Amino acid sequence: MLSFNQPTDSWYHVSAGPGVARPALDGDLSCDVAVVGGGLTGCSTALHLAQRGYRVVLLEGATVGYGASGRSGAQLLPGFASGQGVLRAALGAAGARAAFNLSIEGMALSQRLIRDHAIECDYRVGQAHVAVKPRQALELLAMQRELEALDYPHTRLLEQEELGQLLATTRYRRGLFDSHSAHLHPLKYVRGLAAAAERAGARIFEHTPALQLQHGEPARLVTATGTVTARHVALCGNAYLQGLAPTLRARIMPVSTYIIATEPLGEARAATLIRNDMAVTDLNFVLDYYRRSADHRLLFGGRVSYSGYDPLGTTRATRARMLAVYPQLADVRIDHAWGGYVDISMNRAPDFNRLAPNIYYAQGFSGHGMILTVMAGQLMAEAIAGQAERFDVFTRLRHRPFPGGALLRRPALVLGMLWYRLRDLL
Ligand SMILES: Cc1cc2nc3c(=O)[nH]c(=O)nc-3n(C[C@H](O)[C@H](O)[C@H](O)COP(=O)(O)OP(=O)(O)OC[C@H]3O[C@@H](n4cnc5c(N)ncnc54)[C@H](O)[C@@H]3O)c2cc1C
Repeated sequence: MLSFNQPTDSWYHVSAGPGVARPALDGDLSCDVAVVGGGLTGCSTALHLAQRGYRVVLLEGATVGYGASGRSGAQLLPGFASGQGVLRAALGAAGARAAFNLSIEGMALSQRLIRDHAIECDYRVGQAHVAVKPRQALELLAMQRELEALDYPHTRLLEQEELGQLLATTRYRRGLFDSHSAHLHPLKYVRGLAAAAERAGARIFEHTPALQLQHGEPARLVTATGTVTARHVALCGNAYLQGLAPTLRARIMPVSTYIIATEPLGEARAATLIRNDMAVTDLNFVLDYYRRSADHRLLFGGRVSYSGYDPLGTTRATRARMLAVYPQLADVRIDHAWGGYVDISMNRAPDFNRLAPNIYYAQGFSGHGMILTVMAGQLMAEAIAGQAERFDVFTRLRHRPFPGGALLRRPALVLGMLWYRLRDLL
C-alpha cells in the first residue's frame, strides 16, 4: 500500500474527531463478497450489497477514509475528468450519454444516502469553474453548451463583474456556476457510509491490508492475520492498492495533490472571500480548487507532485498559489496541510471492469471521484447481483497501461506534466 503523511494532519481529521475504532481481522472467514478498501467506493459497494442481503466483509488496510476519500477537495461534480469526448469516441453518442446519466444519477444517490442515513457532513450546494485565461473563458462556453445538450440545465455563466461580486479576487475572466454541484466534509461522509454499511450487516475490519488475492471460485484474500474466502471480490483500493493486482496498478498513475487549511477567519472575513459559499475550481491543467469550511477557514487545494511528500515545500507552494488568488490573506496562518493520491488513468476516463468473472474493480476516477465512486459501488453491487448492464456501460471503455509500466510511468508523466504546466503558464 502507498503510505503518505498521517491523515491526522488534515483539518478533516481534526474537525471530525477520532471516529469509531474497528478491530483487525483475526482468523479465517467466509462470506459472499469480500471488499478491499474502505474509501467511498468500498463503503458504497459494501452498503449496497449488504442492503441486498449479501454477507459482506470489508478489509481496510488502515482506517476508513484513510485514502483519497478522507482527504479530498470534496467537490461533487457531474460527469468525468476526461470530458464527454473520450467517452463518445469509445462508446458512441448513446453510450457516452448513458455514462453521463449515470453520473447524474450518482449525484441524486449521494444526496439520498446523506439524507436516508442522516450523515452529517456539512453538505452545501453550489460550485463554479472559473477561467484564468481568455482561452478558458471560451472553454466555459463550450462546457455549458455540452451540459445543456446533455439535458443538464443547472449552469449559469458568470461574467467578470458578477464573478467579482461573489469572489474577492480579480484573477478570473469568467465563471460557470452550477447550482446542482455541491461540496461536503469528505471524512464525515465516508465514515457515515461505513456506519450505514455496518448497520445493513457488513463487517468492516481495519488495519488489515489484503496482502494476496488468490483467484478461483471461491476467491481468497490473504492477510497477515487471517483469510477471507468469498464468492465475489470487489477491489476498491484504488491508487493505494499497489501490489495486490499488478495489472490494475499499471493502468493508473498515483499523483499527489495537496490542500492547506487556513486558521479560522471568522464568519464575516470568510464570507467576503466566497460570498455564496460555493466551491471553486479553475481550468488550469494543474488546477486550484478551494472552498470555505464550516468553521470559516479557507481550504485551498492545488499543486501536484510526482516526487513524494515534502511537507514544508508543499505548504509553501500551496500557500503561494492561494495568495495568487487572495493576496489579502498574506497575514493568515496556515493551520493544516495534507495530501493524497489521485488515481489518474491514461485517458482520464473511469476504469471499471472484472479481473475474472467474480473479481470486480473500479478505479481511474482521475480526481473526479466524489460522485462516481459512490455510483460505482451501486453498479458493482448490481453486477454482482446479476444485473450488469449498467456496470458494463463502463467496461466497454478500453484502458491502456502507462508507457513504461509501474516503474517508468512516473518519469514519462513528469515530462508530460511539465508540458502542461508550461501551457498553464503561457
Ligand atoms: C487531495 C484530493 C483532492 C480531491 N478533490 C476532489 C474533488 O474535489 N472532487 C472529486 O470529485 N474528487 C476529488 N478527489 C478524488 C476523490 O477523492 C477520489 O476519486 C475518491 O475519494 C476515490 O475513492 P476510492 O474509494 O476509490 O479510493 P480511496 O479513498 O483512496 O480508498 C481506497 C482505500 O483502500 C485501502 N486499501 C488499498 N489497498 C488495500 C489493501 N491491499 N488492503 C486493504 N485496504 C487497502 C486504502 O487504505 C484506502 O483507504 C480528490 C482526491 C484527493 C487526494
